[in-house]
Amino acid sequence: MFSDRYKLACEEVSEFSRMRPRHLDSVQAMVASDFAPFLWSEGFGRGDDLDQAIIARSAATKTAIYGGRVFIIVPIYVTSICQEQCVYCNFRGGNKGIEVQRRRLTDSQLEREATYLVEEKGQRVLELVYASDPQMRVDAMCRHVELLRRVLERRGGGLVGISAESLEESEYRRLVNAGLCWSVLWQETYDRDRYAELHPGKTKKSNFEYRLNAYERMLAAGVEHVGIGVLTGLSEWKRDWAMLMVHEQYLQDRCGRGATILGTPRLKLAPGALMKEAPYTMSRQELLATLALHNLFAPTTAPFVSTREDWELCVAMARGGGCLFTLNCSTTPGGYSLPHCGCQFTTQSYDAPIYANKLTSEGLEPVFRWNARDLSAASCRMTSSEMCGATCFFAQRSN
Ligand code: SF4
Repeated sequence: MFSDRYKLACEEVSEFSRMRPRHLDSVQAMVASDFAPFLWSEGFGRGDDLDQAIIARSAATKTAIYGGRVFIIVPIYVTSICQEQCVYCNFRGGNKGIEVQRRRLTDSQLEREATYLVEEKGQRVLELVYASDPQMRVDAMCRHVELLRRVLERRGGGLVGISAESLEESEYRRLVNAGLCWSVLWQETYDRDRYAELHPGKTKKSNFEYRLNAYERMLAAGVEHVGIGVLTGLSEWKRDWAMLMVHEQYLQDRCGRGATILGTPRLKLAPGALMKEAPYTMSRQELLATLALHNLFAPTTAPFVSTREDWELCVAMARGGGCLFTLNCSTTPGGYSLPHCGCQFTTQSYDAPIYANKLTSEGLEPVFRWNARDLSAASCRMTSSEMCGATCFFAQRSN
């Protein structure tokens, strides 16, 4: 388990911060020690020549693999009732006096939300999102996966994924059997001490190791696409992203396959959250450079382009394609088709019928009806060798 390797990984990252990076022409995909040192390079994240080289290579690589295709996705919040105490979140248990209406959707309300998104907005890939609600455990989640799949079947099918608390391997397996395609879980931060400050109490989420090992449980359970990431801004972000790469390499080496979805959320102070300052903020340029660096590290991992960001930044993050792109977004249960108020955090919402055309005009190809295999290089337009030939600079690891 990665928790057993955590201390060593921290030491490796400290070493990376002191290393001189290799030349970009000699780096090898999925080797953290080849990429993480760039995070500490002089000028990294400032828009100079190094950033431009990394961003251009990232766009070329993504284009070679995905041809500008971006995979459209929409979140559906199911419950805002939570027993966790994350200090950066509006939904934390016991939070009162804020404009959030605590709500747990009934099955018929959930069906209404899904039907609206499928019928009115053309959505075909739905992400169920849960707070840690004691009445929304795996039985309910399985039922919801099946329900959404039935809604999608009426329009020729689609995919269902989940963003929920970390679960047991047996629970992930039940979700897979119910028809789950992917599961995303953000580690929030890899800084154990900071994690403890941000997640007080003795709750499930406060168990750092249990969360750290959830990705191995997902993979063991047969979840087809596993999403990993940090909430950038909770802690020193260069260390967090370096740890993320080490963790991804570990999963690939240890499990034979690793994460194929990358979370990219940046912390935005939420209304009603206890956290009032964000001392570890990452700038826009730092985000673009870091994401591009990660695209070179893991070219066939799909970044989750978040509606926490403005449109221009989302488009810049999607250069070359090969990402999950959120069109329409509400972070409130019932936020699409039911009366509601409040939110988990403020977001943009890019209405699918309008913004799909805008993506096209940006040279990207929005894909609403995509398959699970579309995310991996196996079914992409170019083979691995063609990809290497086209981009000329990175060597795919052979194992
Ligand atoms: S981040 Fe998630 S688990 Fe934490 S308080 Fe908010 S909804 Fe609950």
